[in-house]
Amino acid sequence: MEDDEQEQLIEAARERDDKKSGVSDRVSDELIVRTLIGSGMRVSEFVHCRPQWVRADESPARISIPKHEDCECSDCTQKASEAAERRVENPNGTERFKKYTDYDSTLDEMLRKQWKPKSESGSRTIPIMDKRAVRLLVEWFDDHDEIPLTRNAVGYRVRTISDPLGFDHVVSPHICRHTYAVNAVDRGVSVEFLQRAMGHSKIQNTQVYLDVKGDRVAEKFEEAWS
Ligand SMILES: [Zn+2]
Repeated sequence: MEDDEQEQLIEAARERDDKKSGVSDRVSDELIVRTLIGSGMRVSEFVHCRPQWVRADESPARISIPKHEDCECSDCTQKASEAAERRVENPNGTERFKKYTDYDSTLDEMLRKQWKPKSESGSRTIPIMDKRAVRLLVEWFDDHDEIPLTRNAVGYRVRTISDPLGFDHVVSPHICRHTYAVNAVDRGVSVEFLQRAMGHSKIQNTQVYLDVKGDRVAEKFEEAWS
């Protein structure tokens, strides 16, 4: 997203929040878009964000994604139960009680393996430069200990905010992550440092963000020579 598109998206989010003010325990749209753009977190990471991840007192503030945390959110429960079903053999439905017990313990085991970062490098510390995003997160976590949204719900919210704006491209949580990367590159963050912030295991995945906008190259040269 271009700078003006980011501003429009945030403004639209704020307007929607104003209309929904009074709806209790609603994660604000502004928190969603500002955090996604401001941290570049994957949507699966965002929905698992916990109060202890947010290190607001440090300068700059940062989000610290741990290697693993047990999770029983609806996303993880669904994935775990699918995995447990696959593991539990149930050829003819006999011995149901035994099988049921077996399913439960298998489900417990599967649940303990749920939420983890996408890869080893997914566990990381992300600098977050948008102070307002940090404040919204801190305020939310003052009263809550999780972001009670599924990945789909976050995607739906982002589309609902952005669709009326009529951009010539869709806006998704992934586009917000992408925008974090482009913003960092525009401000001169090197690809090696960006790779760490994005949690990419391969630098090739980060380099993609450098190549998206051919015009940027010309703009950078113009700036450098002006
Ligand atoms: Zn979960």
